[in-house]
Amino acid sequence: MTNKSITIIGAGMAGLAAAYELHKAGWAVTVLEARSRVGGRVFSLREFSDGLVAEGGGEFIEYKHHRMLALAKEFNLSLGSLGGWHAESGDWGLFQNKAGLLSDEKIWGVNLEDEYEKMWLSLAELAKLVNDPSNPQTAPNAKELDSKNVADWINQQNVHPIVKDLFKCHIRSEYTCEPENFSFLDFARNAALYYGNPEEEKPNYRIIGGNDLLPKAIANALPDVRLNAVVESIKIQDEGVTIKYKQVDSFHTIRSDVAILAVPLTVARMIDFNSSLPAKHQKLVDEISYGAVTKVLIEYRKKFWKEIGWNGRLYTDEPIVMTWGATNHIEHEHGIITAYTGGKPGAELSKLSDTERIKTAISIIEKAFPGSADLVENTATMAWINEPFTRSSYMALAPNQVTEHWQTLFTPAGRLYFAGEHATPIQGYMEGAVESGQRVAREIINM
Ligand SMILES: Cc1cc2nc3c(=O)[nH]c(=O)nc-3n(C[C@H](O)[C@H](O)[C@H](O)COP(=O)(O)OP(=O)(O)OC[C@H]3O[C@@H](n4cnc5c(N)ncnc54)[C@H](O)[C@@H]3O)c2cc1C
Repeated sequence: MTNKSITIIGAGMAGLAAAYELHKAGWAVTVLEARSRVGGRVFSLREFSDGLVAEGGGEFIEYKHHRMLALAKEFNLSLGSLGGWHAESGDWGLFQNKAGLLSDEKIWGVNLEDEYEKMWLSLAELAKLVNDPSNPQTAPNAKELDSKNVADWINQQNVHPIVKDLFKCHIRSEYTCEPENFSFLDFARNAALYYGNPEEEKPNYRIIGGNDLLPKAIANALPDVRLNAVVESIKIQDEGVTIKYKQVDSFHTIRSDVAILAVPLTVARMIDFNSSLPAKHQKLVDEISYGAVTKVLIEYRKKFWKEIGWNGRLYTDEPIVMTWGATNHIEHEHGIITAYTGGKPGAELSKLSDTERIKTAISIIEKAFPGSADLVENTATMAWINEPFTRSSYMALAPNQVTEHWQTLFTPAGRLYFAGEHATPIQGYMEGAVESGQRVAREIINM
């Protein structure tokens, strides 16, 4: 179909991936983006020395994320390679006011790293509960599994109590929610997608110069991307979709044959659908659960961690949850550490001013590594629930939400299609956003 028009709301990876496919297929594509930049939750921060860059949002591109890797290649972007998360030694813990290598039995009384392995083996067992991670609602006992939460499962594990806290760090950082608020069915679904084989090594990549070079490159290949265009109202009709948006001080109306809503549902809640959204979709938009997350990026003048065998990863029961090296894919005398805080601690840190949040992260790292605070050169921070056009981290399905909402996530509301990291089995990832955008583009082209 050509000579057909489509409006895409949101220039994150999902909206841009869809726009790019539809533009190539000959559709007249208009992208409306509320911010003054494209990329959404892919946002690289550049307030560091010597052109150092660190990611304020989406960061790791996994080796299996072939759509992201293919797009980076197509737009001639170079990738910096990181090892697999598990292969690298040197993880530290800061629990119960004690700090040291997780493997240091003298500090913890046991080798926490070995104990932690038991959790990954249990996860591999859990993976067997969901045969088809793209359709978790069809798993045997789906409803019962969905009614449970992950906190109960953690508590039942026969491991050292600190390992339970360590695993809580995993839930809070990976899913950015509290284990109590996380559907056990979605947890098992994720286990089936990612943790079925504990031996599997998973190298990661970042785009050299910043991940946001990719959304910028895709947007440059599109004819009509309107920035500062905040969609306020959508009306789905039999023959098309009418969208009203505000751009700076003026109001505009655009009508197209089809539209794609590629914004987080936390933001879709602010849009007036003029009662044209089917009841199931409206319920989804109103109810679906999202997590909270903050990042604090700290540039140190010296990579002091190299001298002490720390790989940059510190798991804590303090308010920052965990850290990692943000620039370990490039050579530089300085290094940036990311403090990544999800779940309830993420929501709490979001309430602080930027200065206070940064101070908190520096002081907790100082607690584990005395003297490190004196080496701080530059800092930056993001609190995503405070961002008016995000208002969350990413979707984190609460108990009973998989069986209630899964199918609606993938069903168009008449001529309005849903795309985004929420509308894909690869939820919470840049890859998932791209998958959803490319999928709905295909569905629309074949309509
Ligand atoms: C801190 C953090 C760390 C992450 N780490 C990783 C990681 O390591 N690896 C990974 O793969 N993924 C990661 N992710 C997830 C990844 O960034 C997201 O899944 C992905 O970028 C989401 O893309 P999207 O297009 O669905 O949504 P978004 O990027 O949120 O795009 C939506 C767009 O819609 C715009 N918009 C909103 N409201 C309106 C409106 N009313 N009118 C017009 N436009 C509007 C927004 O401004 C935005 O540009 C992380 C996310 C965060 C927040």
